[in-house]
Amino acid sequence: MKNIAVIGAGTMGNGIAHTFAQSGFNVNLIDISQASLDRAIATISKNLDRMVAKEKITESDKNTTLGNITTFTDMDKGVANVDLVVEAATENVDLKLNIFKSLDAATKPEVILASNTSSISITKIAAATSRPDKVIGMHFMNPVPIMKLVEIIRGYSTSNEVTNNIMELSKKLGKVPVEVNDYPGFVANRILMPMINEAIITLHEGVAGVEEIDTVMKLGMAHPMGPLQLADFIGLDVCLSILNVLYEGFGNPKYAPCPLLVNMVTAGKLGIKSGEGFYSWTHGTKDLIVSPQFK
Ligand code: NAD
Repeated sequence: MKNIAVIGAGTMGNGIAHTFAQSGFNVNLIDISQASLDRAIATISKNLDRMVAKEKITESDKNTTLGNITTFTDMDKGVANVDLVVEAATENVDLKLNIFKSLDAATKPEVILASNTSSISITKIAAATSRPDKVIGMHFMNPVPIMKLVEIIRGYSTSNEVTNNIMELSKKLGKVPVEVNDYPGFVANRILMPMINEAIITLHEGVAGVEEIDTVMKLGMAHPMGPLQLADFIGLDVCLSILNVLYEGFGNPKYAPCPLLVNMVTAGKLGIKSGEGFYSWTHGTKDLIVSPQFK
């Protein structure tokens, strides 16, 4: 594989494009929004500058990496001659099913179609195509150029050959791939989201405050950040939507989202992206100030 298309140039898409391009692949980065594409190239360039400043890469490596990326707003053109597509568009079932239907029509039949979805069933996405054996989950972690893990998700029909190809490809990117089967939340979110939910329930029941809960998990369990701060980083709306996928997918009340989380999302307190969640982020991401409602 040499030519890769990345669909979606947002937070994850720009990181995925950066990672493939830095490993020498030709990347066609595709988005419906020209503004997203421009922002993505600016972000990749800034992240490469940081690596040059730290002497991890040279100025010439930076230019080669940027030169490996071409942007497109027309998906059919962008995927015409690629060997692999990695889809990282907005997390919405209907949108992804439509994208995969179009990809199935616009790419050669042997092309592998991967999705970076956090929570949508790979089996469901695969069923929208005529090649379910060649559809697979490639769940990168944010920030992609830094985080080593890629969760490789086998849909019900994904072939061994395709799984092995994608496992090997992930290693070529300098990542550590882990193979998992397609069940709600896969492994990462099935374990992470109930922990975050339990932290919110602990706060809701008044067992301890925001800082106390995060400090117990940071210093007691050696987590780099506490679960409430992490929820603010991920976005409380994203946490709620993944918990609902787990709750509905397993039909088990242990995954029921905490009513406090539901209320906060309804009130528009989504974490960093809205300026306030469990912490107030209005002073920038470095100042950890507990939100007034929890004081
Ligand atoms: P984002 O909102 O930052 O970016 C999504 C991009 O998709 C936008 O630029 C949008 O213009 C583009 N887009 C929408 N419809 C499109 C279409 N039809 N064709 C091409 N581009 C289209 O979202 P994100 O956070 O980068 O998430 C992307 C995917 O990655 C989602 O499936 C999400 O679940 C998954 N994911 C996100 C994270 C994370 O931490 N943000 C982590 C792992 C996986």
